[in-house]
Amino acid sequence: MAKEYRVLLEHADKINPESAADYIAVGGYKGLEKARSLNPRDLIEEVKKSGLRGRGGAGFNAGMKWSFVPQYAETKYVVCNLDEGEPGTYKDRIICEKNAQALLEGMAICGHAIGSTKGFIYCRGEYPFIVNLLKKAILSAKESGALGDFTIEVRMGAGAYVCGEETALIESIEGNRGEPRFKPPFPGVEGLWRMPTVVNNVETFACLPYILTNGADWFANIGAKNYPGTKILTLTGDINNPTYFEVPTDCLLRDVIYELGGGIKNGKKLKAVQVGGTSGAFIPPENLDTPIDFDSMAAIGAALGSGAVFVMDETRDIVNVVNRIAKFFEHESCGQCTPCREGTFRCKEIMERINNGSGSIKDIENLKLLARVMQKASLCGLGQAAPIPITSTLEHFEHEYLRKLM
Ligand code: SF4
Repeated sequence: MAKEYRVLLEHADKINPESAADYIAVGGYKGLEKARSLNPRDLIEEVKKSGLRGRGGAGFNAGMKWSFVPQYAETKYVVCNLDEGEPGTYKDRIICEKNAQALLEGMAICGHAIGSTKGFIYCRGEYPFIVNLLKKAILSAKESGALGDFTIEVRMGAGAYVCGEETALIESIEGNRGEPRFKPPFPGVEGLWRMPTVVNNVETFACLPYILTNGADWFANIGAKNYPGTKILTLTGDINNPTYFEVPTDCLLRDVIYELGGGIKNGKKLKAVQVGGTSGAFIPPENLDTPIDFDSMAAIGAALGSGAVFVMDETRDIVNVVNRIAKFFEHESCGQCTPCREGTFRCKEIMERINNGSGSIKDIENLKLLARVMQKASLCGLGQAAPIPITSTLEHFEHEYLRKLM
């Protein structure tokens, strides 16, 4: 029987997330104390040893990312990506609502590791209540003295999905139009105001206090070997129990849906699951016995991404769902590079045609070709990942496309 394993959410609803005193009463800020007793190099080694990988989508080793920051630079920044814009994803909001102080502590731990005293939290524009909560949490932490000389400011986005991309996010904090930069240089070397900057997701930062308090080995032994720890998943769609869960990363997708999620609504059969947000692959029922960790998902052509699990029952029209996703990406493309600007537009146009019954076999061939170009030639993850729902459904549900052709 699959069970939740709560680390980040252990004290959810038992403490006030704004209150540093409440957090300290349950052992909070001990991780930062431990981190400050280590020199930065040893701290980075400890985080590397824990195996913590980014929880925002790319799954990069957190300690490794920090090690790229040049120690000689005088000004460095810690940036938290709270631009949670994937439809169906709300795990970062839950972390803030239940355990905001762990996020602040994690950012301060990162600050000590890279030699930075300044952090920014970039919060999506649709979360004004989270901005207020965080401001109160920061004030409470400051007044308690827990953060020491590390200061944190909250900046608010304006509703652009692309600002979840780390360099677009940096541009937006700087007050510019949120467009991704060419990489390299990566933010670790040249980020916010061209200074070395670590950008990590809320969940990544919030893991750090527990790693430091309980030790790297403790964390490394939870869940999957190559992607240890826990993961917060948000379940939406045709599921009996559409809520959030914190599970060890070796939990099977089948158990997430049928045990924690209570199975498919109204006793229907499962048609597909989309994992990792709007740009995630559609997974057919035969692949459900896959652990949710990053590498296992990648092995079946999917991505754990933001941890969103969108469940579709047997009655769902896959082509119609993908058509709506294509519209979303066409709307959210920032337009800076041609493969994505033109590609998302053409994908939307072709998907609309197929969905309304006037598509042809040539359209399917063109979709496959477009997808290849976008994945290879787009500047950022948005354009590279936008065709994944199309390619994965063409792989597993092509018959549904063919049924709609003229
Ligand atoms: Fe903008 Fe799309 Fe190019 Fe990214 S891939 S820079 S979102 S146009």
